[in-house]
Amino acid sequence: MAERELNFEGKSPLLYLIATPIGNRSEFSPRAIELCKEADFIGAEDTRNSRAFLLSYGIDKPFISCHEHNEEEAGEKIVSLLKEGKKICYMSDAGYPAISDPGERLVRRCIQNGIKVSTVSGPNAGLNALAASGLPTDHFYFEGFLPSKPSERKKELEELKGRKETIIFYESPHRIEKTLKDMAEVLGDRKACLARELTKSHEEFIRAGLEELAALDPVTLRGEMVIIVEGAKETKKGLEEEDILFLLKNALNEGLKSKEAISKVAKDNNLPKNAVYDLYLKHFK
Ligand code: SAM
Repeated sequence: MAERELNFEGKSPLLYLIATPIGNRSEFSPRAIELCKEADFIGAEDTRNSRAFLLSYGIDKPFISCHEHNEEEAGEKIVSLLKEGKKICYMSDAGYPAISDPGERLVRRCIQNGIKVSTVSGPNAGLNALAASGLPTDHFYFEGFLPSKPSERKKELEELKGRKETIIFYESPHRIEKTLKDMAEVLGDRKACLARELTKSHEEFIRAGLEELAALDPVTLRGEMVIIVEGAKETKKGLEEEDILFLLKNALNEGLKSKEAISKVAKDNNLPKNAVYDLYLKHFK
């Protein structure tokens, strides 16, 4: 059995992971400030940013740069300093270290070396967005960034298609237009929420179907953003081609235009819109 030691008792060294603001600078906790003041070193993803940020609290410490491309070597240095008894806090550029940010390998290295790890709570873009999205929060899946290559992005979305949980995506403004279009195409017109510039003065939540989000003017989608997407619904079982045709006919008889009828039948029955459209073309054109 693994040896046990409470995080804030005993002699083993401890690394603090410090969550930092994702926009509003006053969301840096008093505990984080206190620990950074006590630290001998601050490990940081971007030492320039973090130095300027901590200086605004009057904290001036030696830094250790530890980012995606040097996490192994920097991790070794941090571990050896911790073993010497130095106090170290690690922070990424925004939010939690190790969440779509460097830190995961550093944490593993610490654990392998008998170093305890603790977190100082703070904001996380995905959870902020999820909590206010209005979509189910009881079960959720964190995807983070999708691959940037279009073919890989679509493949990944295909793999996510069947997930029942609400899904959290991170995206950058220069890829948002293509990503939303791919999401609408692969996942269908699900409910979604685009949360932009969280905790900042231009914070915005756009709650709409994926198709509507994909049709937004990309110029209006600037800044940092999270996309929350509803999970897959149970497909109504046993729906044969003739059942779908029956529903389509009813919708058209109710006076809906063909496009509206196709969307309604697809949405109500959790069917891919393309499949309903193909049936429409086959039987009504
Ligand atoms: N470690 C961070 C966390 O705990 O949320 C995530 C860092 S990741 C490199 C950066 C991405 O997080 C951005 O591209 C965006 O998707 C999301 N993000 C960060 N800050 C945000 C904000 N203020 N509003 C919306 N999304 C944000």
